[in-house]
Amino acid sequence: MSYVQQVMDSLKEKYAHQPVFLQAAQEVLQSLQPALDKNKKYQEHKILERIVEPERVISFRVDWVDDKGQVQVNRGYRVQYNSAIGPYKGGLRLHPSVNLGVLKFLGFEQIFKNALSGLAIGGGKGGSDFDPKGKSDTEVMRFCQAFMTELHRYIGATIDVPAGDIGVGGREIGYLYGQWKRLTQSFEGVLTGKNVLYGGSLARTEATGYGAVYFAQRMLESRKESFEGKVCTVSGAGNVATYCCEKLWQVGARPVTVSDSRGMIYDAEGIRVDVLKQVKEVERASLTRYAELVSSAKYTPVTEYPQGRNAVWSVPCDAAFPCATQNELNLADAESLLANGCKCVAEGANMPSTLDAVHAFIKAGIAYGPAKAANAGGVSTSQLEMAQNASMQSWPFETVDANLKRIMTNIHDSAAATAEEFGQPGNLVLGANIAGFRKVADTMIMLGV
Ligand code: NDP
Repeated sequence: MSYVQQVMDSLKEKYAHQPVFLQAAQEVLQSLQPALDKNKKYQEHKILERIVEPERVISFRVDWVDDKGQVQVNRGYRVQYNSAIGPYKGGLRLHPSVNLGVLKFLGFEQIFKNALSGLAIGGGKGGSDFDPKGKSDTEVMRFCQAFMTELHRYIGATIDVPAGDIGVGGREIGYLYGQWKRLTQSFEGVLTGKNVLYGGSLARTEATGYGAVYFAQRMLESRKESFEGKVCTVSGAGNVATYCCEKLWQVGARPVTVSDSRGMIYDAEGIRVDVLKQVKEVERASLTRYAELVSSAKYTPVTEYPQGRNAVWSVPCDAAFPCATQNELNLADAESLLANGCKCVAEGANMPSTLDAVHAFIKAGIAYGPAKAANAGGVSTSQLEMAQNASMQSWPFETVDANLKRIMTNIHDSAAATAEEFGQPGNLVLGANIAGFRKVADTMIMLGV
């Protein structure tokens, strides 16, 4: 039995109740096989057994009081996964589906993504099963304060630096930072994604969506193609999807869809980013509101999606950008994209494609940018925010954006070169995983047990 199989079998036995974590581990470990075959030191040092286990898992109770004066109880977590190459870094997710398995999948992916970015940051992730939907601003504030009252003991500007993720945007980061400052009496870059008024970086808000398009641009460039005139489908309607649409327009493409948890918008004329921001960032409303404001937009509720499918991926396109959540694009969706002539998929969300969908893209030989490469723009710009905080500087938007583009290009080129090195040119899943893994694994060996 192979080393990878041994480790996977033991994980399946121990963590059968954490299916998304097992899925993420399977995807990474499988693709590492050629690097493990080439160099036995990883097995000798039990690197796989060690890298799949978080260094530390913190789990805590979060008590807060709602607007009716009722006590509410949630579970909070921080998974400090791997700090071999730098302080733990990764977002906080607030969504009812959050549990330890989800955060382990996200934290595990984050290790390799952060290493691949070429920056000195380790991997971590956190969050809570708190649902910000339908809560008032003061309820969100009380929750964030209660959450940080526990979390502040474990984080620090050179220890662990959380950021946003699903359900955590500028508003939540503000409340979290306010409470951290109140408790510690210090003003440091302990969170990223802050508003520029109190130490945030210009272009951090845009970074994940813009970065996914920069990455896709580089994939197309390497195939002597460009985005000019291309029709693109985008899922999600949050931070990543919005700025992905914005950048697509800027590079001459036309995004024609967005979606949220209740339905999707299709507009052949292209998504109006100004209206999307008004609906999602200002009104915090459903996409039905977008359809009320834009007459050319067609709204389809989730209840009318084809059985077992995501309707976004049935829309013919040249390139697809899944930017909502995990497992939102399955094999049937992948087959539909390929049958309709889609030539490029760049993942803004984390693990949006199921394993069989990923295999279908690789087999078809299209330009496929896996999440840990294509969406690394967010965490990379977070690191640029840390650098600005540490040096008490604030860089212009153009400086940060130029750095982001350079980093995304380097990530692509490093994954592509590694794929070539292992005889699978164009397989950026293998390239990204091995490139990220080697950096962390070699460091773990240097640091000793
Ligand atoms: P947001 O909360 O801003 O937006 C999430 C969007 O996805 C919303 O439109 C939401 O719909 C939709 N969505 C969430 N869960 C589901 C679901 N189960 N089914 C269908 N739609 C869903 O989050 P972000 O844009 O920040 O994050 C999106 C993805 O990108 C996540 O996978 C995240 O991990 C990843 N990512 C984010 C980064 C960042 O910098 N923010 C960095 C790297 C990756 P609704 O509004 O109805 O809930």
